[in-house]
Amino acid sequence: MNLILMGLPGAGKGTQAEKIVEKYNIPHISTGDMFRLAIKEGTELGKEAKSFMDKGELVPDEVTIGIVRERLNKPDCESGFLLDGFPRTIAQAEALENLLQDMNDSLDYVLHIDVPKEKLIERLTGRRVCPTCGATYHVVFNPPKVEGKCDRDGSELIQREDDQPETVKKRLEVNVEQAQPLLDFYHEKGYLVTFNGDNDIDEVFHDIDQKLGDLSK
Ligand SMILES: [Zn+2]
Repeated sequence: MNLILMGLPGAGKGTQAEKIVEKYNIPHISTGDMFRLAIKEGTELGKEAKSFMDKGELVPDEVTIGIVRERLNKPDCESGFLLDGFPRTIAQAEALENLLQDMNDSLDYVLHIDVPKEKLIERLTGRRVCPTCGATYHVVFNPPKVEGKCDRDGSELIQREDDQPETVKKRLEVNVEQAQPLLDFYHEKGYLVTFNGDNDIDEVFHDIDQKLGDLSK
């Protein structure tokens, strides 16, 4: 089961990834984890990636794709993988196709969790953080017992810079711009499956699960 997970920030990708990984026993491979592992293991590519990251530069595609190749060849990927955060560009998507072809394998689905932008803004701007203990809340989905105060220590909750409406809107726009060409690419190839991420968590997973159930038959 070879899967890519796509969705804008706040769409609930992390939660769904956890559920997919648990049920189907495939590794959740995020770009960040992949880089960290390669660097920790001290592979040639890991060292190369680190040299770019240390300079604050973008890791070039050849290096990134090499790291993806190493990762997908690990034994835990024998029955598949759930890629998250890769590919980010058409060039990377094409490289992934070639890579899978070399492995006599192919993608099954690109799972896209779709949530209307206004809903994402509501989800993301509603976050509140306790400056004392780091606990996180949400004004709608996970409110503290007393408005604006941490349940644990009573500290005044704050809204992080990242969660301010203007910042959130900008972040979403950048992400949409980046994701749209990829969504189009995978749609044309017939891999894209879109789920309504505005439903509640279990409903979204039920829909994904039904789709994935076809694969294990
Ligand atoms: Zn607190």
